[in-house]
Amino acid sequence: MSRERDAVLCEMGLGPIWKLREQTAETVPAAATPAVVRVSVSEADTPPPPAAMAEGAPPDHDVPLDAYAFDSRPDDDDEDATPTVDDRAARIAAMDWVELKQSVAECRACELCKQRKQAVLGVGDVNADWLVVGEGPGADEDERGEPFVGAAGKLLDAMLDAIGLKRGKDVYIANSVKCRPPGNRTPEAAEINACAPYLQRQIALLQPRLVIALGRPAAQTLLGREVKIGEARGKLHAHRDIPLIVTYHPAYLLRTLPDKAKAWEDLVFARRTMQKLKNS
Ligand code: SF4
Repeated sequence: MSRERDAVLCEMGLGPIWKLREQTAETVPAAATPAVVRVSVSEADTPPPPAAMAEGAPPDHDVPLDAYAFDSRPDDDDEDATPTVDDRAARIAAMDWVELKQSVAECRACELCKQRKQAVLGVGDVNADWLVVGEGPGADEDERGEPFVGAAGKLLDAMLDAIGLKRGKDVYIANSVKCRPPGNRTPEAAEINACAPYLQRQIALLQPRLVIALGRPAAQTLLGREVKIGEARGKLHAHRDIPLIVTYHPAYLLRTLPDKAKAWEDLVFARRTMQKLKNS
């Protein structure tokens, strides 16, 4: 292991426990969702599928199964299909970044508006290839108006640094909900659904090459189905036609040190996938 990698791992708090496994040729689905992924990722590029989440291991979050804000399929429904976009969503879908920021700041579409100090739209490069999506603002984020600025934010920055990214440069960071759930609880299905048009619009404006979903709520929101991180990580998924990789939320990793090693594998997978996307 190189000195540089040692330094990165130490920065992620992985020094004492970190050990990358050998890559194996086990088959990983090219896309676990019906959406098309326009990248070829060889088996050797893919970390070995993780052992199923250990029996009794705590999930990183619990989210009700109806919390699926997005349908991950492309927009190819026929005209007779029941409309799923209401007037509010349609208005949001037409907004630019300035309008989006203003709208989120004034939004009272769900209960989360009641206790927030401020809504947190997101931060970063609006021309980024990378989009990182988390769950929702915490206390620090609510205070400062920026996602991932507390302890979990520091870890996220270290994770980004490990794959050569810096906050604000070629990466945009957003959350599934833009207002802090009281007590940092998991957002409810209705809240995720109410906020989904904002995330959808962010994705439409950004058109990222690759999305990283941090934690179960973000993964379920973007994939539109139940997700267990231990089973979903190590595979290439898609939100609509945008490649998507799932990994653990930094807040979970702060509580569950051994899984940081798995997160590193996911980041390596993401970096290689991005390379493939840029070369394709
Ligand atoms: S969480 Fe989203 S939908 Fe709910 S009030 Fe905040 S911005 Fe509006």
